[in-house]
This record gives sequence, C-alpha cells and structure tokens, in this order.
Amino acid sequence: MTFRRDPIASPETILPMSEQVSNAAAAGAAAPRIGFVSLGCPKALTDSELILTQLSAEGYATSKTFQGADLVIVNTCGFIDDAVKESLDTIGEALAKNGKVIVTGCLGARSGADGGNLVQGVHPSVLAVTGPHATQEVMDAVHAHVPKPHDPFVDLVPATHVPGVGIKLTPKHYAYLKISEGCNHRCSFCIIPSLRGDLVSRPVGDVLGEAQRLFESGVKELLVISQDTSAYGVDVKYRTGFWDGKPVKTRMLDLVARLGELAKPYGAWVRLHYVYPYPHVDEVIPLMAQGLVLPYLDVPFQHAHPDVLKRMKRPASGERNLERIQAWRAACPQIVVRSTFIAGFPGETEAEFAYLLDFLKEAQIDRAGCFAYSPVNGAAANDLPGALPDALREERRARFMAVAEAVSTAKLAQRVGATMQVLVDSAPALGRKGGVARTYADAPEIDGTVKILPPTKASKTMKVGDFARVRIIGTAGHDLVGELV
Ligand code: SF4
Repeated sequence: MTFRRDPIASPETILPMSEQVSNAAAAGAAAPRIGFVSLGCPKALTDSELILTQLSAEGYATSKTFQGADLVIVNTCGFIDDAVKESLDTIGEALAKNGKVIVTGCLGARSGADGGNLVQGVHPSVLAVTGPHATQEVMDAVHAHVPKPHDPFVDLVPATHVPGVGIKLTPKHYAYLKISEGCNHRCSFCIIPSLRGDLVSRPVGDVLGEAQRLFESGVKELLVISQDTSAYGVDVKYRTGFWDGKPVKTRMLDLVARLGELAKPYGAWVRLHYVYPYPHVDEVIPLMAQGLVLPYLDVPFQHAHPDVLKRMKRPASGERNLERIQAWRAACPQIVVRSTFIAGFPGETEAEFAYLLDFLKEAQIDRAGCFAYSPVNGAAANDLPGALPDALREERRARFMAVAEAVSTAKLAQRVGATMQVLVDSAPALGRKGGVARTYADAPEIDGTVKILPPTKASKTMKVGDFARVRIIGTAGHDLVGELV
C-alpha cells in the first residue's frame, strides 16, 4: 500500500495531502508484497519514490493493505509535534495489523528524552529504523527480513513508473523535482539540519536529465523543491557541470533557465518552491516575466520584523523584503507570492506582530499560511526567553489568517472576467460534468483551484493533464469558478 495521509511537514511545507495514492504494482503471485506509508512533505515524498523505485526494480510487489503485506515500510515526518504523533500512531497501527515494520524518514533520525532512538523507544518491536534519504539502508533492512524475489521475469513495473526516473507518487501530469538535500542554515525553530544534514546539491546534469525524462513521460508541471532552492550549488561552489554536452553552472539561475528551456517544447510549467529572498533571486524574475518559468514564488518568510527574524536566525533576515517584493512586482506584474509565517514566536511583542500584519498587507502576499508557534523537541528556540501563552499564539494566528484571507480574497476577485490558462487535475466524464483545475497562481495541494462548470456545449471536453483556457466568472472562498472557452 502506498499512500500519504495528513502529512504535516516543516513550517515551510504545509501540505494537507489526505488522499490515498496507490501505485498498483502489477505483480506476480510469488513476489513478496511490501506495504508502504508515505507521510510528510514533498521532500519526504521523493525519498518514498526512490525506495519504491528500488523495490520495484528488485521485483517486490506492493500491497494495498497492511494485512496483505509481508512487511510494511513507514516513511515518517518528525518536524512538529502533530507530525510526530501521526507518524508514531501509523507505526503502531502497522505493527498491530502486520507486525513487520521498517521505519525511515525524519522521525527515524530523532532521539528521545533518554538519548536513545525515539521510534525504537516508543515501538521497540520495529525491525529497523533509518533517517531520511536512506534508500540503501532501507533496502538492506528489507532484504534481511523479506528476501529478494527469485523470479526475475515477473513484470513488476507499476503504472506510475517513469522510464529513467523511477516511481512517481504524484499524478502523471505533475512531479516534484528535488534539486538538493539538507540545509546549511540553523533557524532556531527548526531541526531539519539535524535530521537531513547540511546542503548537498544534486549534480546539475542529473537534475536536468531527470527533468527531461519527466517532460518526455508527460509531466506538464515540474515543481522544484529542496530545503533552500536559492542556495542550490553553494556547497559545490557553483561548480560547472554538463548537460547535453554543454557546460552549466550548478547555480539556481542557470538551472532555472535551463529547466525553462527544457519545458518549452512541451508547453509545460516550471514552478519554484522554497526560495529565499536573497539578492540573486532578483535575477530569476526576468525569466518569469519572459514566460520561461511560472511567475510564482514560494518564499517562506516566516516573519517580517527584523528582530524576530534575528531571533529565528532566518536566512536573508537582513534583506529588505518589502522593497524586494515591490521590485519583483514592478519587473513582473503578474507574479504571485506564496509564503508561510509563524505567529507567537518567543518574545514576539504586540508591536512586532502588528508589523507583521502591516507587511502582509503592504506586500500583498497572494497566498499566506500561518502556524501558531509550537516548540519542536531539540530546537534552539526552546531556550529563548519570552514564551507566549498558547492562547495568545493561537489568537495571533487567527488574526493573521483573517488579514491574509482578506488580502487573498481581494486578489482573487481581481481575476474575475479574465481568461486564464489552467492545468486540469480532475475531469469526470471528459469534463462534461465539470472539473477542477489550477492556474499558474496555484501549486497543487497547497493553493486554491479553479472549479470548472459543466460546459454548455457537449463538444467541449477536457482530460486530466490537459491545459485548457477558462474564463473566470466568480470566486468561491480560496478558489475561482470558471467556464471553458
Ligand atoms: S532554512 Fe531554516 S527552516 Fe528551512 S530547513 Fe533550513 S534551518 Fe530549517
């Protein structure tokens, strides 16, 4: 069984993915069956894809139930308390229903209060525990407990297998492209560097090769992810790599430009996530204005007040973010900025919070999410003075969201009357019953959608993964309503 449910990742990646995703391996009867639960953010999802690809390559099948599996792998999230609880509960459920469980992912790297492994402390009967990004260790544990299948001729390639890339857990028309692992920053509320290590950029040729294969396989939207996309290549001093026989620097601007060029013949979208507002990000904006990549930036600001950002030890905290956003909008008026924030950080004064609300209004953040600050075991921020009461943190989160929604709703209303290109995510009966799609302003799973009304003419159809043109006729909460043109 391969599914994600209610994963909650870092504050940078709020992804309410509650659907079940089945990779439906067509396996021979003799193949051992592995159950797989994938929790967490898109970065964890790409780890799951690597493990599933390896399992498939070795001839393992997947099981849709815990009971029907020979062994269960749980890829966990360990960032905030809710995610830890969900991961531990899932492991408990897998143990109760199956008994043979391997744990991987961020929670696997965390220590408990006694200094021992947290997962093994709570669930001592798990067979093995690894941290994130550990395909080989997971495979070693699988081999130890469920030996490799003997029949090499069984066809086990699942429907979502992308040649040259592996298994993708996303729908066929979009895919996450992870460009680096780990992070060099030490934000005081975050334990990701201790879970995933320092920044390691993937070779630029490998990244571009994967992107090319994804486009060839029908991917219409590539979502570039990492912990810090703007830092791509810092660890290798922007080394020159090769793609298609030509030199390319391991650097965000060069990578993004090449991805845009690769996407062009397919008419595909390239969307950037987890970009910090460093000055060099300004150079990417003209590529957005030219239409090479989507004019969409997911920038995890977390706060606006300089003193709070300093206490958070945020990267680019000294940058003039408001002026920067205004300059982006001047260079590329259609740009959409998505961000996440934390309300009620230790020591946050009412004046600092009010400053944040003013920033939200002035910067006109199109899509904003907000967490009430919640201490994470092992994070440096836990030692900061001035912890705020839970009720106050929650009250500030609610006040933040009221302002964010007012900004977002007003911006959505401006789209009414426009004709926009959309990518279709759902289209029952070839769209004759209507459908659900997204514009460039909406990343899958985290932003809004466009509800497409059933067409009046039977000749107007659409399929999942198609681009379509839609006239926006209204709004519905965070979503738009439109009709095919
Ligand atoms: S940039 Fe900060 S919040 Fe993001 S992963 Fe790195 S340390 Fe964590």
